Amino acid sequence: MRRLAARLCFFALCAAACDSRACDAPPIGARTVSPLAQGMEPALAPPTALPPEPAAPPAAPRPRADASDVLVVTIDTARADHFGAYGSTTAHTPAFDALAAAGVRYERATTPTPLTGPAHTTLFTGRHPAVHGTEINSGPAPLLAGRERPTLLAQSFVAAGYRTAAFVASVILAPRVGLSAGFETYDAPTPAVREVAAQDRVEKALAWVDTAHDAPFFLWVHFMEPHAPHVAPPGSAADVEPYDAELTAADAALGALLAGLEARGRGRPLIVVVAGDHGEGLGDHVETEHGVFVYDDTLHVPLVLRASGRFDGGRVVATPVTLADLAPTLRALCGLPSIESDGVSLLALPAARDLFAQSLYPKVAFGWAPLFALQRGSFVYIDAPRPELYDLASDPRERRNVLAAQPTTARTLAAALSARRDELASGRLTGLQPAAHDVERAQLAALGYASATGSVPTVGPDPKVMIRDYEARRAAHRVDGLPPSVLPQQ
Ligand SMILES: [Zn+2]
Repeated sequence: MRRLAARLCFFALCAAACDSRACDAPPIGARTVSPLAQGMEPALAPPTALPPEPAAPPAAPRPRADASDVLVVTIDTARADHFGAYGSTTAHTPAFDALAAAGVRYERATTPTPLTGPAHTTLFTGRHPAVHGTEINSGPAPLLAGRERPTLLAQSFVAAGYRTAAFVASVILAPRVGLSAGFETYDAPTPAVREVAAQDRVEKALAWVDTAHDAPFFLWVHFMEPHAPHVAPPGSAADVEPYDAELTAADAALGALLAGLEARGRGRPLIVVVAGDHGEGLGDHVETEHGVFVYDDTLHVPLVLRASGRFDGGRVVATPVTLADLAPTLRALCGLPSIESDGVSLLALPAARDLFAQSLYPKVAFGWAPLFALQRGSFVYIDAPRPELYDLASDPRERRNVLAAQPTTARTLAAALSARRDELASGRLTGLQPAAHDVERAQLAALGYASATGSVPTVGPDPKVMIRDYEARRAAHRVDGLPPSVLPQQ
């Protein structure tokens, strides 16, 4: 209760179609899917006097008889190196670790931005935040405002005859963020409740599964426990940090969910994806939570896939992957039509790739410079007023900025980052406003401002200069674990 009360105070203060085999099959069952459930606009009646000829109803899709159930679990604020499977010696995450031992664990999985709504939108669309437009949590969801909208995974699954449901734990993921399209059931806390416990999400998800016995399901369950404020659940070991105790609580819920599904004996294979949406700073680069920086502390997330015959055997993949890869992977795995994506299917992962990340939170919340990062091989270049270069091979905690010692590498990665930003900006879905930082950047470029590394400098105070004062003010405002009132949701 103490944790829930703290969270309530925190929020109160805080400002497709199916594959050909399936489509060719005769329809079964009486369940129909409304156009709205598929994310389409309802058609208006034609303004003619004569009624149209009655059209044959469209054939209801029928999944293959051996189609798998699909479970996606997202653990909010899950920092990879605090899971046992990622080498933590302090955390207790047996359910996740067991899943990793049976499936495939991605050693270098990252989020494209350390913010809840934008990261989940990338997971379910396969598009980068710079493309789908949900780049911060606050404000109207661009996903709902744009003339061109990406197809969400749930829309493709429901169109292919799957039952679909989502049980999310935070109001940050309420329908207004734009992720509910395609889900027949989308259960999110109301603004008055704000957040619900993982145990509640598991119970409701399993009760829903009991109603979905006629077809395979696509089920998303979201846990919020590790998000700030960090309050150890009752009964937690006294020598465990509150954040780790909250991870353990989320992991226990994951275990209960998997056990509940297994106990139901659905007679279908089960594909499981468990991912974090972003990590948590925990003070390692002064930032205590997430959203400002683009260091590994908040970008590196746990990721495991388990699918019999394709993702199994306890393999560990070292090639960098991103949350944007999950939508194309599930599409390929389940025979759904592939659509344009900024990620790749993990069934055909290239040996090497660049990964791009960003955070607009410092710009939007405080007027500081936005931050952008590009990882190539073991190097990470961070585009900031004072740029940074880290070699994760020798410095996995990103403590030593080697930009001065490696100017050629820095220039190469800066140019690649700039090109990637241009590429993503050009792919931005129509009907959306250009990102403010890209407008600013274009204006600077037109005036001839270009940094020595070839990129256009980002404008505003450097977040790493401002972060100490920011955290000091947060600490000063924090009463009984409450952060200041002016911060947008992270
Ligand atoms: Zn989050």
